Amino acid sequence: MKQLTIDTPVVASCTVGECAYNLDNSCRARAITVGDGVHPGCDTFFMESGHVHESKRVAGIGACKVTQCRFNDDLECITEAISVGRAGSSVNCMTFAAR
Ligand code: SF4
Ligand code: SF4
Repeated sequence: MKQLTIDTPVVASCTVGECAYNLDNSCRARAITVGDGVHPGCDTFFMESGHVHESKRVAGIGACKVTQCRFNDDLECITEAISVGRAGSSVNCMTFAAR
């Protein structure tokens, strides 16, 4: 596997325990994708009982499509860290802030 070294915001916490990438209220994916243009949903959310085993990884944000967020620049998130959680029936980036 090739190694990439990139600067990326991190997912500081995620309270969506039923997601397959969630372990101990943290996201263990390598990187997540956020948004569908207007809605700051976590596109990487995947409901599965077989959770990942990786317990040390901190997820980055690979891309964010929510251009209406003030932390979005050129379709990338530029804040330091985000939190993800439930907002009604959605799984959202809770750090979203409208421009
Ligand atoms: S941030 Fe998204 S992919 Fe990661 S654990 Fe939470 S819901 Fe799942
Ligand atoms: S803070 Fe804004 S730009 Fe960053 S991931 Fe969340 S919605 Fe996207």
